[in-house]
Amino acid sequence: MRAFDSLYIDGQWVSSTGTATIDVVNASTEEVMGSIPEGTPADVDRAVAAAKAAFEGWSATDPAERAKALQALADGLGARNQEIAETITGEVGMPLFLSQLIQAGLPTAIAGTYVKLIDEVVWEEEVGNSLVVKEPIGVVGAITPWNYPLHQIIAKVAPALAAGCTVVLKPSEVAPLNAFILAEIIDGIGLPAGVFNLVSGVGPVVGEAIASHPDVDMVSFTGSTRAGTRVAALAAPTVKRVALELGGKSANVILDDLNGDDLDAAVRKGVGSCYLNSGQTCTAFTRMLVPRPRHDEIVDIIRDEVESVYTLGDPAAGAGRLGPVISDSQRERVRGYIQKGVEEGATLITGGAEAPDDLPTGYYVRPTVFAGVDNAMAIAQEEIFGPVLSVIPYDDVDDAVRIANDSPYGLAGGVWGADKDAAVAVARRMRTGQVDVNGGAFNPLAPFGGYKQSGIGRELGKYGLDEFLQTKALQR
Ligand code: NAD
Repeated sequence: MRAFDSLYIDGQWVSSTGTATIDVVNASTEEVMGSIPEGTPADVDRAVAAAKAAFEGWSATDPAERAKALQALADGLGARNQEIAETITGEVGMPLFLSQLIQAGLPTAIAGTYVKLIDEVVWEEEVGNSLVVKEPIGVVGAITPWNYPLHQIIAKVAPALAAGCTVVLKPSEVAPLNAFILAEIIDGIGLPAGVFNLVSGVGPVVGEAIASHPDVDMVSFTGSTRAGTRVAALAAPTVKRVALELGGKSANVILDDLNGDDLDAAVRKGVGSCYLNSGQTCTAFTRMLVPRPRHDEIVDIIRDEVESVYTLGDPAAGAGRLGPVISDSQRERVRGYIQKGVEEGATLITGGAEAPDDLPTGYYVRPTVFAGVDNAMAIAQEEIFGPVLSVIPYDDVDDAVRIANDSPYGLAGGVWGADKDAAVAVARRMRTGQVDVNGGAFNPLAPFGGYKQSGIGRELGKYGLDEFLQTKALQR
């Protein structure tokens, strides 16, 4: 049980002006594993004032000094890897070995990338009679979700600090304990007071206070499209910059020239890309697009993969490949979509809406596959955020591209084909921010972000740092 009773504002652990607290529930035991303060708009005012006061000094530091701070941050995260992984496994339910690699390892690596990327920023350039300079945008409000909670925080905080911005962070109230560990680490590396501030609380109160605050220069939001559009609307009257990383419904296109072991591997990896973190991944490949004549053959491979590999079990004990989903309400939502898929006439291949027999405690959902899905069905159009894969047949490559793009979202996607050039050609036609060709690996230096209703702006790498810079022209 970790009870955090203070917020981190202006370099100090301070009490909230309110008295309410929020319990944090372990997704597999359903027990309270911690608590945090439920912050107030007055707390946001205090944090924004501290960030504003710290901006002048921090923005004027030598980039090399900021690089040192980021190295210390990466080292601090690395030193607490196990604790962070165990905390997030409790909060989110991801199997511990994956949490070590992804939930704790990835933020450490991302913080480290900015140590070098600061050096690559072109802070000034001559354009005719102008000196064009890059400057940090100012006070950044960061609002983050629960599914990869610390990664999503670091993807904002590290480049914002590298750019010379100061930050007010509101982490997800569902998985916030990792953010308090981060604040402890930041407190330990001796950043100037006010450069980083943490105000926990609920979205409609603390999140909205940040999004609408006149002294916040930019709001960087990751979460649902529903809350992201609200944040953008609240930010509009003060004309602040808005970056949005939102939902997805990504298509994984299996081309018809794949055969034998290559087809087998592509399909099995595609299942993995859907089910990572029990399907609670914004980039999850939740729609597998398959050539119509190969549909049944591919579905047989999927069924075998799901039933042999994706066992449910206690994530902290390493008991299964899939942990629970995050909460009771998320479990009910996912089960509702599974029922809807059946009602819509999709063929249930494995899984289902019923509770798993042997796991009475924990928010488990059976890994579920629907075949013969029509892309117009709700299970193909809406983000479910659970272990549910839809297999959608297509007629030819043009049809595959049409179906892939027939989505309000455009965050990620995959293409698999024997002819790599042809696969790349399909990837180019997909209206989405990232596409992995033949299982191309995650690249922490590549731009990450959405087309369409998946968002505005890019995170990670030099593109992520650029988001936090303003451009000024001096004519001489
Ligand atoms: P959410 O939108 O419910 O919450 C995200 C954050 O916004 C939380 O901190 C929440 O407190 C806050 N919030 C909620 N309502 C708000 C409001 N009215 N004003 C201001 N802030 C508000 O999302 P979630 O359930 O935490 O996360 C899941 C969603 O996030 C999924 O849709 C997923 O696709 C998306 N996501 C996107 C990315 C990406 O990079 N594109 C990454 C991860 C998750």
